[in-house]
Amino acid sequence: MTTLLIAEHDNASVKDATNKALTAAAAIGGEIHVLVAGSNAAAAAAEAAKLDGVAKVLHVDAPALEHGLAEPLAAVIVALAGPYDAIVAPSTSSGKNVLPRVAALLDVMQISDITAVVAPDTFERPIYAGNAIQTVKSGDAKKVITVRTASFKSAGASGSAPVETVSAAADPALSTFVGEALSESDRPELTSAKIIVSGGRALGSAEKFKDVVIPLADKLGAAVGASRAAVDAGYAPNDWQVGQTGKVVAPDLYVALGISGAIQHLAGMKDSKVIVAINKDEEAPIFQVADYGLVGDIFEIVPELTKAL
Ligand SMILES: Cc1cc2nc3c(=O)[nH]c(=O)nc-3n(C[C@H](O)[C@H](O)[C@H](O)COP(=O)(O)OP(=O)(O)OC[C@H]3O[C@@H](n4cnc5c(N)ncnc54)[C@H](O)[C@@H]3O)c2cc1C
Repeated sequence: MTTLLIAEHDNASVKDATNKALTAAAAIGGEIHVLVAGSNAAAAAAEAAKLDGVAKVLHVDAPALEHGLAEPLAAVIVALAGPYDAIVAPSTSSGKNVLPRVAALLDVMQISDITAVVAPDTFERPIYAGNAIQTVKSGDAKKVITVRTASFKSAGASGSAPVETVSAAADPALSTFVGEALSESDRPELTSAKIIVSGGRALGSAEKFKDVVIPLADKLGAAVGASRAAVDAGYAPNDWQVGQTGKVVAPDLYVALGISGAIQHLAGMKDSKVIVAINKDEEAPIFQVADYGLVGDIFEIVPELTKAL
């Protein structure tokens, strides 16, 4: 059993999502090789070599790989796929962009968003917005797997695997990088934040979001999240959305302010270690998953809480 783990990186360093997917790869068992495909990505390859349990890093460097475009990256993965039993990547925007293409080119089914490894060919994954857990057994010779990072701890980084330079497969030239619009923020990134403060429709406006949610997040050094209703109403930007069609998070502390706790929101945050909910409706479903619940008005309670902190 040998697994190829596709590292997510920015050419300089490896993203934590990779460390989490590595823990899933280790649970599958056997030897793990990490692919760092990028441009001038030697620093990222060196960092990947330190990850615990990695037997070897394959470093592929080419200008076409600088921005992680799915087409050239999938070509590299497929060219290397021969000896591997499993190809694993985190279920992030990039993983979800690249791995379906790899699965199609290899003519196997993708096993998406696994939350547990039962056996090397059997995995658990949530379906129906997390309402049920499906156990999937795959008979494919090569398993192409994306990993729900919120379900796995980060692997440590005390290893020293060798880095092997491998030449890149030809770029299929199906896509060209034009530009990217990155949202810049001093806050922790939502999917790796230890604390998240999220606001819902109850906020009522973008201004209230700024006046009520942001100061509490600032006090706690937290990332800011939002329900889809708050995003759809324009109170918060799209990339703050937590849930089935947003980001899946599992911080140490999740604070839900004026969020009802619809199943699609819970699908994105119910694995958080400690959940605090403030809602004026004591029947709100969010209280069923909350470790601490406060029934009351967020416009009174949250400023008081922020002041007390
Ligand atoms: C296919 C699909 C995908 C979806 N994906 C997502 C997703 O990814 N993420 C997501 O969040 N939703 C998602 N939704 C939407 C979801 O069903 C809910 O509509 C949404 O989560 C509701 O957001 P909310 O809790 O902010 O609003 P509401 O459900 O309107 O809840 C507002 C809450 O605020 C409370 N409240 C009001 N005023 C106050 C006050 N002053 N103080 C305290 N509490 C107050 C109310 O009691 C209520 O519980 C999806 C829906 C579908 C159909």
